Amino acid sequence: MNTSTALFDLAVAGVRQLVPYVPGKPVEELERELGLSKIVKLASNENPLGISPKAKAAIERVSSDLALYPDGSGFHLKHALAKKYQIAVEQITLGNGSNELLELVARTFLTPDLEVIFSEHAFAVYPLVTQAVGARAIVVPALNYGHDLDAMLASVTPNTRLVFIANPNNPTGTLLAQDKLLAFIQALPRHVICVLDEAYFEFVSAEGQCDSLSWLPSCPNLLITRTFSKAYGLAGLRVGYGISSPEMADLLNRVRQPFNNNSLALAAAEAALSDDEFLQRTITTNQVGMRYLTEAFQQLGLSWIPSAGNFVAVDLKQTAMPIYQALLARGVIVRPVANYAMPTFLRISIGTAEENQLFISALQAVLNV
Ligand SMILES: *Cc1c(COP(=O)(O)O)cnc(C)c1O
Repeated sequence: MNTSTALFDLAVAGVRQLVPYVPGKPVEELERELGLSKIVKLASNENPLGISPKAKAAIERVSSDLALYPDGSGFHLKHALAKKYQIAVEQITLGNGSNELLELVARTFLTPDLEVIFSEHAFAVYPLVTQAVGARAIVVPALNYGHDLDAMLASVTPNTRLVFIANPNNPTGTLLAQDKLLAFIQALPRHVICVLDEAYFEFVSAEGQCDSLSWLPSCPNLLITRTFSKAYGLAGLRVGYGISSPEMADLLNRVRQPFNNNSLALAAAEAALSDDEFLQRTITTNQVGMRYLTEAFQQLGLSWIPSAGNFVAVDLKQTAMPIYQALLARGVIVRPVANYAMPTFLRISIGTAEENQLFISALQAVLNV
């Protein structure tokens, strides 16, 4: 008897059909493969400046106390978030990365007979959490690589329970206009929950930023998710949060594991939140790097999708995989996005000035220009 097949058959249908998430290639793996020591990783939208010095100090402070369970209520971090965003502590749900919020909302509201709407080219975790609970994914064709809100609204049925919107979206970087997004959320029927994924919120310019928190009092079905993984540079510690009505937060908190955030992560996130200097430096580095990369693309005759995030999708007008492989051989890791139905694109995370230059030199060499 083939026992592995038998075990596979025991898994729930949604899990059997899941395509596992493929993360960016780890630096250490490429170092091992190539025997290189200077690797440039611009593949996972991480913060090129590392972590805030205040967060680092907080980790050192807490590291002697790790025999104790963490504070399962996240008291200090939640109070710091509540103060910063002028919201109530009861509106916050902490997650092990904001990815956990996406999973919590799926487990809280979905059953196999229900439908979930998201856009073509939207973040890969939406289909994952949808399928894992056996719900049906309704993928709405994109409009100029962004969300087609009218088409998404037209796809709502009595069985729709969740809509995922990433703003800005990953991997396209597209941004929705505030008035259009609010009108969409307000037009959703009461049986539909809207998850507004703002993982790249901090990178959006002041003019582009949605005042989404101010929508919450009139939108009890809205869950806004944000993260410490990107602008705050704590991807390795896994801290994200949801902001919603207290009713929504209460439900999500019932499903959440009691100690889902570890002590180091809680302390680091609280400290990072207070480090405005580091956040500003991160945003400026991103703006300067985005300008440099897009100007270089222009000179190379390449087009790209204008991005509001800390990454940019560039169109190579040819199958991108060989270019990705050739860049890897030169020690540069970027992200192929064929799994997002964008086979001619590569997604480049904005790095430091030096990393951006090394990437562009490698790209020029690989493209023979
Ligand atoms: C990176 C990212 C996240 C955040 O992931 P974490 O679990 O918080 O590290 C969420 N949504 C999108 C669209 C992302 O790109």
